Amino acid sequence: MDHERYMRRAVEIARGNPDARFGCVIADGKSGEILAEGLNDAEKSPILHGETAAVTDLFDGRPDADPSDLVLYTTAEPCSMCSGAILWSGIPRVVLGTRLETLKGLGRWWIFPAKRSPGGPPSMASRSPTGYWKRSATPSSRR
Ligand SMILES: [Zn+2]
Repeated sequence: MDHERYMRRAVEIARGNPDARFGCVIADGKSGEILAEGLNDAEKSPILHGETAAVTDLFDGRPDADPSDLVLYTTAEPCSMCSGAILWSGIPRVVLGTRLETLKGLGRWWIFPAKRSPGGPPSMASRSPTGYWKRSATPSSRR
């Protein structure tokens, strides 16, 4: 695949948010077709990163997509939330534009959630409000 072509498209998408220039493209590794795109819109919702937006776009637009041949291109190294979303989506390959440590070195420290939450990570409940976990709701049921 022509990684540069897809990364250039991710950069182009990222320009849509001058305050948080993070964009993402998901392409079919066989056909080369771009199947989904995503732009960081964390001002709207803290979980709308480029990667999560693209994964949502992928499964909204192509609910039967086989992720095994897909490649995700992102302008920056996925955060832990996006890494989880990518893992759960089954996309096996990721091409990234820059490392988080590089962004941190450039003064973009705010991308690290611990810096935004002085109280540390939230406490987690050990059970769902209904008292059990719904196995059928797991992302792996999409495969
Ligand atoms: Zn993220």
